[in-house]
Amino acid sequence: MSDETSPSCTCIFWGVRGSTPCPNREQMEYGGNTTCVQIQLPEREEILIFDSGTGIRNLGQHLMQREHDLSGRIFITHPHWDHIQGFPFFEPLRGTSNRFHIHMPVQEEGSCREIMLGHFSKTFFPVAMDSLDAELSFVNQPPERRSYEGYEMEFMKASHSINTAIYKLHVNDRQLVFAPDNELVPSTYCSDPEQMGRIAAFINGADLLIHDAQYNLDAYENRQGWGHSPWEEVVRVASRSKVRKLCLTHHDPGADDEQLRQLDEHLQQEYGSCFETIELAKEGQTKKI
Ligand SMILES: [Zn+2]
Ligand SMILES: [Zn+2]
Repeated sequence: MSDETSPSCTCIFWGVRGSTPCPNREQMEYGGNTTCVQIQLPEREEILIFDSGTGIRNLGQHLMQREHDLSGRIFITHPHWDHIQGFPFFEPLRGTSNRFHIHMPVQEEGSCREIMLGHFSKTFFPVAMDSLDAELSFVNQPPERRSYEGYEMEFMKASHSINTAIYKLHVNDRQLVFAPDNELVPSTYCSDPEQMGRIAAFINGADLLIHDAQYNLDAYENRQGWGHSPWEEVVRVASRSKVRKLCLTHHDPGADDEQLRQLDEHLQQEYGSCFETIELAKEGQTKKI
């Protein structure tokens, strides 16, 4: 739990959509860009980013308006398209005085460097990798807690089809858990009690939990094993784990604003008393912890 007197961290949502971008008029309120979240650390210039879905393009444009050099870290949860697709369009990669470390859990095929720079092969992208003037380093993120400049990052393996991170950021006694792709299996299905126990312990007392809630229980029935959670189970586990603020994300590309607005209202009415805040993530939204 946080100490309310210490400076807070700001979390900015640049992409909240799961699976594929959906830039349609009826989806603009919650947003059509795929996963990207920026964290502004208290009293630090360093840039901290989770995932590089298409939302990272707008973040890049925003950062390039700054005059001074940019440096920071991008923590990628896993290399599914919706979490890396915006990377080649992140403009700060082309600034000679910029410096970024890119972290990703090791995969069966390819290191972090091979996968992220693989985007720039002629097959997928027209501009050669030589155009990346920033100083880049690539880190195969191990499943352990590590210290960085002014914060610590912890890692838990998600329940997802490939090696996927759930990241826990520790800064000034506050904890933010980022789990955009994680399948919490309801006990009415064949859930794994050990994995459920691990996740409950990992999120316990978190100041902010940003969690996958792509489906509801009805939709989940035909999508078990696809690697995403029904929101009902996320709310149940988060509430039992005494999460302070719950923010549900990775919205299904088939969900329009009307559907998401209705769910948002329902969450407030039914579960508002269980959390300090409970809501669906919206592109452009900021949250302080
Ligand atoms: Zn995803
Ligand atoms: Zn995924």
